[in-house]
Amino acid sequence: MRSQIAAANWKMNLDFKQGKQLIEEIISQEPTPEAGKKVVFAVPALYIRSARKKVKNNPGYSVSAQNIYHKKSGAFTGEISAEMVASVGAEYVIIGHSERREYFNETNGILAEKINLALENNLTPIFCCGESLPTREAGTQNEFVAGQISESLFHLSAEQVLKIVIAYEPIWAIGTGKTATAEQAQQMHHWLRQVLAKKYGQPIADQISILYGGSVKGSNAQEIFSQPDVDGGLVGGASLVASEFVTIIRALKKSV
Ligand code: PEP
Repeated sequence: MRSQIAAANWKMNLDFKQGKQLIEEIISQEPTPEAGKKVVFAVPALYIRSARKKVKNNPGYSVSAQNIYHKKSGAFTGEISAEMVASVGAEYVIIGHSERREYFNETNGILAEKINLALENNLTPIFCCGESLPTREAGTQNEFVAGQISESLFHLSAEQVLKIVIAYEPIWAIGTGKTATAEQAQQMHHWLRQVLAKKYGQPIADQISILYGGSVKGSNAQEIFSQPDVDGGLVGGASLVASEFVTIIRALKKSV
């Protein structure tokens, strides 16, 4: 059975008070997502502890970090480790968001190190992959995204890969208002499941949640999430508005 997940990526938005209010508002409108549905708030690292306190009495809700450093500990001033975010209550961590790949030069190899540290600290990685517009226009998106997956994840055992959530986020659809069509999302998610099945076998691939990200909003969530290989969404802009995000949570389908 695959979890259906609505993950909110706040990025570098909202001050502390605004963040607390947003979580309170969402939980008051949707206190208990149905069984098999999960809601994850990927908040700035500074807010993890407080966000965790806010969600701890609401089954189905969890808190995520937006990033971790790729080393265990040491002289890396200003960085935050997997162990640190786990120790203040994060259960998930986003790894490999396209903004980090682009602005912080995170390579597939660095991301593999982050995946290992996340798993060692019992964090569920939300591993992001996705192609740029030129790659999509060249028609090589499938090979490109398969390469991201194999270089960052294929060193894992079957038991470990079952702990990963994948988020397919075409870069051309992130924060642009352009959404992949439901068919484009389904095609890529189906392909990714085939790639995983080839390496780990179909029964394992069938248990891995694959989220779609890229301008998901209340008005398009249901159509995208209804696709058979789409298991929810990683949501940026629309996750900052309580009513939008509640609509997105409610658009999750029953677990498959
Ligand atoms: C994201 O940041 O992962 C994202 C998908 O952003 P948006 O929903 O704003 O496109």
